[in-house]
Amino acid sequence: MNEINHLTISSSSSVLRPTQVEVNLSRLRQNFCRIRDAVAPAKMMPILKANAYGHGLVRVAGLMQELKADYIGVAVLEEGLLLRESGITMPILIMGGVFGNQIPYFIQNDLTITASSVAKLKNIDEAARDMRKKAKVHLKIDTGMERIGVHYYNAEEFIRCSLDCSCVEVEGIYTHFANADAADLSYTILQLDRFKHVLSHYERLNTERPPLIHAANSGAILQASDSFFNMVRPGILLYGVYPSADVRRTIAVQPALTWKSRVVYFKVILPDHPVGYGSTWQSNTPVRAVTVPVGYGDGYLRSMSQYARVIIRGKQYPVIGSISMDQIVVNIDNDSAFNNDEVILVGESEGTLITVEDLAEWAKTIPYEILTNINTRVPRTYSETD
Ligand SMILES: *Cc1c(COP(=O)(O)O)cnc(C)c1O
Repeated sequence: MNEINHLTISSSSSVLRPTQVEVNLSRLRQNFCRIRDAVAPAKMMPILKANAYGHGLVRVAGLMQELKADYIGVAVLEEGLLLRESGITMPILIMGGVFGNQIPYFIQNDLTITASSVAKLKNIDEAARDMRKKAKVHLKIDTGMERIGVHYYNAEEFIRCSLDCSCVEVEGIYTHFANADAADLSYTILQLDRFKHVLSHYERLNTERPPLIHAANSGAILQASDSFFNMVRPGILLYGVYPSADVRRTIAVQPALTWKSRVVYFKVILPDHPVGYGSTWQSNTPVRAVTVPVGYGDGYLRSMSQYARVIIRGKQYPVIGSISMDQIVVNIDNDSAFNNDEVILVGESEGTLITVEDLAEWAKTIPYEILTNINTRVPRTYSETD
């Protein structure tokens, strides 16, 4: 996934391009502990899908293992396999839907499978039987997301079927909320009631519930403590970003990610000399400007053109013209900036701050998309300072 960059960093960090993501591991640790304290005694399944929300899958997983997180959640098989290859031994749930031909890879690598239908559950059982092993699964219940999972109103048969699958170990059962980060929690309460009803089938069937029951994403962790059951699944909150502007900020977390680059070029742009593709920006006075080697090819989204700002020497300046694939131009007004000066794209410098929420607003998207779009061309570095 990001292995080329890991290699590059360790072998030649001094010659790396200066456009880098710096992850503050102390912040991640602190966020983890704050969430854990708030949800205790519920267990923790930090969510590390999409390269740990851009923070670097393997490194963040190593930290979670060190912090004794109970479980890790990722989206797809490849993420789980990479973690196993990297020596991560803790339990890993793949939350996405499984394809039949993938099942042996899950079983072989001790990856927990999301069983999202009766048919898939039977496939898993058969594959495990063929391998003379047991497959570990969590049953996925759809209580109102309409993505994957057995509908809550069909869950009784699903549960009954799971009890007959002798080569399947049903370790967990879970659901996912559609609106837990909203101000209005009525839909979350509806989903929660449906899930509780599903769980009550176990009593009706006179059998034990699976050991792990989980539902809460970041929004629910912040706003719905009756959804914790015995494990929670924090994603974006772990990285120090709140899932929405509306959500109640009941746990204090801080962003762990800084995205920075350096000035590679300075020039004065003469009047009536437009900047960038499409010549969308020009001035009728001379403009002092610097060029910074980052662009939409790194995930600095082109849709932020006209709105984006960066920090140089503790002050915010506008990006001018269209964002290119690999470069942006910044108007530094009457100020000075020099080659190699640090440029903060996301983060804090001398008391001024640009957040992923700012970038999301400029790009008319959500912070999740900003974080997960910072792609693998951008090397990740890790610091412990606070
Ligand atoms: C992504 C995801 C989460 C984490 O969501 P956040 O809003 O980032 O906390 C939890 N559960 C499932 C099933 C997910 O797909």
